[in-house]
Amino acid sequence: MAKQRTITLLGATGSIGASTIDLIERNRGNFRVEAVTASRNATALAKIARSLGAQFAAIADPACYAELKDALAGSGIESAAGNEAVVEAAQRPADWVMAAITGSAGLKPTLAAVARGAFIGLANKECLVCAGSLFMGKVQESGATVLPVDSEHNAIFQALAAGRREDVKKIVLTASGGPFRTWPLALMQKATVEQALQHPNWSMGRKITIDSATMMNKGLELIEAHHLFGLAGGQIEVLVHPQSTVHGVVEFRDGSMIAQMGPTDMRVPIAHCLAWPERIEAAVPSLDLARLANLSFEAPDLVRFPALRLARAVLEAGNGAATALNAANEVAVDAFLAKRLGFAGIAALVEETVTEAGRRGHLREPASVEDALSVDHVSRSLAADLLPRIAAKAS
Ligand code: NAD
Ligand code: MG
Repeated sequence: MAKQRTITLLGATGSIGASTIDLIERNRGNFRVEAVTASRNATALAKIARSLGAQFAAIADPACYAELKDALAGSGIESAAGNEAVVEAAQRPADWVMAAITGSAGLKPTLAAVARGAFIGLANKECLVCAGSLFMGKVQESGATVLPVDSEHNAIFQALAAGRREDVKKIVLTASGGPFRTWPLALMQKATVEQALQHPNWSMGRKITIDSATMMNKGLELIEAHHLFGLAGGQIEVLVHPQSTVHGVVEFRDGSMIAQMGPTDMRVPIAHCLAWPERIEAAVPSLDLARLANLSFEAPDLVRFPALRLARAVLEAGNGAATALNAANEVAVDAFLAKRLGFAGIAALVEETVTEAGRRGHLREPASVEDALSVDHVSRSLAADLLPRIAAKAS
């Protein structure tokens, strides 16, 4: 690359974090690491900070601080703990920030990087779902550059370069369909955590893997695409594409459809964002098109995957509803992973929470981060209250 780039990794110990670190290690001379953060895994964070030669390591959970400090002793790497420390990591002067914290916990730190006009590799889709208009408004104000890491949005971002925005007719986000793509409804309702964690194509963190099984992931991505690209819900189509080879398509006014293809390896979109507008080696095997006998596409089944229907309805309803949907989904996925809620209960809990939050007048368009986080908070407690009844009903 023409110039060395300083980078910060928010969520360094996760799945996206690991792929990013692999790319940095393969392209050492191009990057210098400023800060790294994690939620609680102090040992893993210290190891990453040492091997990347970071200046600063922040752990969100204060109870893990002593362990982090011990593990960094003698390294000269500064450390701190708490949510404010994670925000501080984002504020430090790095050119480029990977936003790969999972859930709405990523909102404040990502906005801290946005506020200083950084380049943001945005993996954390939940922050756009939770506070999309607000987030994009801050991006406009600060002149930050958002580079979509999510593979479908990265595909759209790359394909959009083929024409003018005003000539875009629609976009297509593809979905693998997850492990239950061909399962009958009755079987899906009894799906176990272990079955839901078996993603056919991608290896990812637990939360997004469950979101892929319910197809809530595609629902969140629909809302993410609406904000990132300024498109109406009706211009964003979702198609199930079991091979996960075509990640996204842009259709222009004249009927041309520009697609981006690539192997199912997150290092491809991450590498694109890390080096943008240049390109670096991702060291992934080339897609063997001759061996790919078939590429197939089908419309999603909204009866078996109600989460997708809910996300569309919420997109039409406006931002406060999306905040509630995201919060309720985080609660529902946690409960499912803890085996306190059945698979069918996930979408049911989200639907009931959004409806009830609306009934109680909580669904206003967030005007500030505090506002978005307050709707998030209220929706989480509402979901927690509704959980026992939904869990009993759906079992
Ligand atoms: P993960 O669970 O593997 O990692 C999450 C990271 O965030 C970890 O470093 C964890 O320590 C940190 N974290 C979690 N909670 C935190 C909190 N409260 N405060 C501070 N840090 C916290 O998740 P992942 O699969 O790497 O996904 C990260 C984000 O990227 C998600 O928003 C996900 O939707 C998105 N994404 C992931 C993939 C993928 O292939 N994994 C693809 C597209 C988008
Ligand atoms: Mg995706």
